[in-house]
Amino acid sequence: MEEKKVTCSFCGRSKQETDVLIAGTTGHICNLCISQAHEIISEEMEHKVRKDLAEELTLLKPKEIKEHLDTYVIGQAHAKKVLSVAVYNHYKRVLQEGTKEQEVEIEKSNIMLVGKTGTGKTLLARSIAKMLNVPFTIVDATVLTEAGYVGEDVEGILSRLLQDCDFDLELAERGIVFIDEIDKIARKSDNPSITRDVSGEGVQQAMLKLLEGTIVNVPPQGGRKHPDQKYIKVNTKNILFICGGAFDGIERHITKRMNTNALGFGNAIDEQIDDSNLLQYVSPQDVKSFGIIPELIGRLPVVTHLDPLDREALRSILTEPKNSIIKQYRKLFEIDDIVLKIDDEVFEFIVDKAEEFDLGARGLRTICEAIMVDAMFELPSSDEKEFHLTLSYAKEKLSRKKLRKLRAVS
Ligand code: ADP
Repeated sequence: MEEKKVTCSFCGRSKQETDVLIAGTTGHICNLCISQAHEIISEEMEHKVRKDLAEELTLLKPKEIKEHLDTYVIGQAHAKKVLSVAVYNHYKRVLQEGTKEQEVEIEKSNIMLVGKTGTGKTLLARSIAKMLNVPFTIVDATVLTEAGYVGEDVEGILSRLLQDCDFDLELAERGIVFIDEIDKIARKSDNPSITRDVSGEGVQQAMLKLLEGTIVNVPPQGGRKHPDQKYIKVNTKNILFICGGAFDGIERHITKRMNTNALGFGNAIDEQIDDSNLLQYVSPQDVKSFGIIPELIGRLPVVTHLDPLDREALRSILTEPKNSIIKQYRKLFEIDDIVLKIDDEVFEFIVDKAEEFDLGARGLRTICEAIMVDAMFELPSSDEKEFHLTLSYAKEKLSRKKLRKLRAVS
């Protein structure tokens, strides 16, 4: 009996002209048509992903980004402005990628934040990630080492980002990574060393490839790379890296540069220099003098500073941000139907102590905790419906001895 001639229902090729012909209920499809269909689907999906991304990434305008940050972070107007623009441009670039409008390639703009500890660097980065609804992770640069040494490989940074979004690669590839204490991996002297510098320059070198945008093999569980382990290939092209550091002593480099520049011709400084906040003049050159290698600085084109927090800022941090410390305590008491009433002078007292013991913004919570702990322990089991926090109560709970202990741990 003559075999019925089967052909691909899409292109009409006969069985002999194809490698594989798959039968369906009413027709057939050949391997060539499957490949072509696959390509069409991939293109469509890519388009869809970009569209979804545009919808998902609430791409606010820089002004709106800053306004949003204002609700969480006190002061730091300059850093907020620079960050808002950088983040806006970064995600604009992500959305534009692969589209026809991409005649001019917008370069990635990772960010470097220079500011004393506890001035809001992490808070800024975290608030941005939350606002954009993208995966976010914080890593401490001091735990990183170059491959082959005890410590965490730089690829581990991306493992954490993947973990933050349940290994959704697409999401991770447009997340934000905050690398804290970047100043701690500075080269110890300005001269390139001939010996290997495990904790400093070596790590900076290892970080380079991460920051520039390449495909990195990431061990899913983090930790050390292992030859038998399966890696996830992560493209870092659209991951925004924000680095932060206190850069203690960078003022010395800033002053030196400014003095040198002032002597150069045509560079007379008209403006009065504000000695009390030299960080506001920080430039990539100063970061280099501090010991960050030029290649890494090149990949962190946006350098900005955070201002030291003054009394007024500390006072505002206590009550103003959307989830301020005091609002959190109010909420905690409210759950037990207790109204928390605080006298104004208590706020002043808390700020005084934070300043006196040099605890900064981080200390505010520790001080509040020390004042509140007894009340939080006792009141839920009592019939009290109000807790009135007076200055004398706060003073009593915060003895000098306790404060000294707080300073020791902070
Ligand atoms: P850094 O990263 O600069 O060391 P953080 O962002 O971790 O500092 O700040 C520590 C804590 O201090 C934050 O969780 C926040 O409660 C408070 N804080 C610091 N700076 C600010 C600020 N400018 N506005 C509001 N809160 C702040």
